Amino acid sequence: MSVRVRFAPSPTGALHIGGVRTALYNYLFARKNDGVFILRIEDTDQNRFVPGAEAYIVESLKWVGLIPDEGIDFGGSYGPYRQSERKAVYRRYAHELVERGHAYYAFDPPEALEAQRQAEENFTYNYRTRTGLDNSLVLPDSRVQELLDAGTPCVIRLKVEPGQDIHIHDLIRGDVVFQSSELDDKVLLKADGMPTYHLANVVDDHLMEITQVIRGEEWLPSTAHHVLLYRGFGWTETMPQFAHLPLILKPVGNGKLSKRDGAKFGMPVFPLDWPGETPEARSMGFREAGFLPEAAINFLALLGWHPGGDQEIFTIDELVQAFSLEHINKGGARFDYEKAKWFNQRYIQMTPDGVLAGHIHPLAAARGYRTDLPFLTRVAALMKDRVHLLPDFVEQGYFLFEPVTQYDDETIRKKWNPAFHPAFENLLENIAQVAPFEAPALEEYVRHFAQEQGLKPGDILPLLRLALAGTMKGPAVFDMAALLGPAETNRRLAGALRHFSQVIATIAG
Ligand code: GLU
Repeated sequence: MSVRVRFAPSPTGALHIGGVRTALYNYLFARKNDGVFILRIEDTDQNRFVPGAEAYIVESLKWVGLIPDEGIDFGGSYGPYRQSERKAVYRRYAHELVERGHAYYAFDPPEALEAQRQAEENFTYNYRTRTGLDNSLVLPDSRVQELLDAGTPCVIRLKVEPGQDIHIHDLIRGDVVFQSSELDDKVLLKADGMPTYHLANVVDDHLMEITQVIRGEEWLPSTAHHVLLYRGFGWTETMPQFAHLPLILKPVGNGKLSKRDGAKFGMPVFPLDWPGETPEARSMGFREAGFLPEAAINFLALLGWHPGGDQEIFTIDELVQAFSLEHINKGGARFDYEKAKWFNQRYIQMTPDGVLAGHIHPLAAARGYRTDLPFLTRVAALMKDRVHLLPDFVEQGYFLFEPVTQYDDETIRKKWNPAFHPAFENLLENIAQVAPFEAPALEEYVRHFAQEQGLKPGDILPLLRLALAGTMKGPAVFDMAALLGPAETNRRLAGALRHFSQVIATIAG
């Protein structure tokens, strides 16, 4: 049977980065096994529906390149792939399960159940309590029919038989056993005719011929109910295999990575920005933080999975080749943002300068900087070994785009000697004539010049760097000069010379 897997998010808000990892593992598993990767939107819980969340999911998957083979907006012959468009299907199956004797109508008004909950701590609707409640297992058939004919509000519940062991062979966790006596009679179809997650999820996995359910660990307990549904429908032969993925843990301390950790540690925990009620409540995305999608994918792939060996950089094709569910860890994976940035740095280094220029373009434009691509390509070449995130190109390399107005005066005090003044004047008058105005020729010129003037390179180079950038941090000094060009180099040297003298004058004064 050919492999068919699905990513089945609920559009209840921004898709958490853990959701992207779930999608990724489904995608890798599908590709590895020549299977089909499906996107199904589980939007039957109207109370939790958030406008824009579905579009966000699709945009996130597109950004990281996990393009579904079937799904909403992606075609396929098992649709519709949006659960809110399949209500009639779920209704039909819920009634079928009642006919098969594995589900029943329950007429208890919400207030009656609330009263039960008040009266009995930990009240659950189950094989013990159902005998005393208002449902079709207790009422005579004629009464049930009467109530149904009268349109009395009712739900359909799963009839869990006590005393059964439910064995699940999880592909990651191994054998897991649940006792049916501990399970409640889950609502399958609500009074408004909408299915619950359990019913819709199982019916769709069956109808869409899903072969492996790969999802977050938080769904493991629900799987016991799902297995009972497969049994009740008589679908055990084609029941999918299950694989429950480990949690993504906080960077420090205990527990699951949460939205709040993003704000607390100033790091993204979502793939894309998600607007908040106020600008401060906005959640930052990996994309807007300046990650390349390939780097985000590589980082996420290794968050809970590793094929063994010490390779860390994997292209998507290499991930597909190496992927197997057996190599997913059982334990939670700690979210290490520094590691994420390390991956991004490596991918930036591997990306061609011209491609990086395209990424720098909007960042430069937003600051009102020069945006011609030949220039940005050279900026990329100069800075790519020292940045971690795309905005670093303009944030750390600002002096390549704007005149120097701030100098590191502390270093100037240490390095500048008024006796250098005539030599620097000479340099500033002549440097623009160096031809070609490129790093090797500039370096040769300046080294020769220093020798002539009886100066050490260590006297002159830091000052040259301060003159061009204002700071000691930055790319190789002759590369910088070459990029700035003769006129700007000359202008910056002149400005710096005035500033150096002032700094020294202030000390003297
Ligand atoms: N709709 C569920 C979610 O939001 C899907 C769980 C599953 O994959 O079965 O995660």
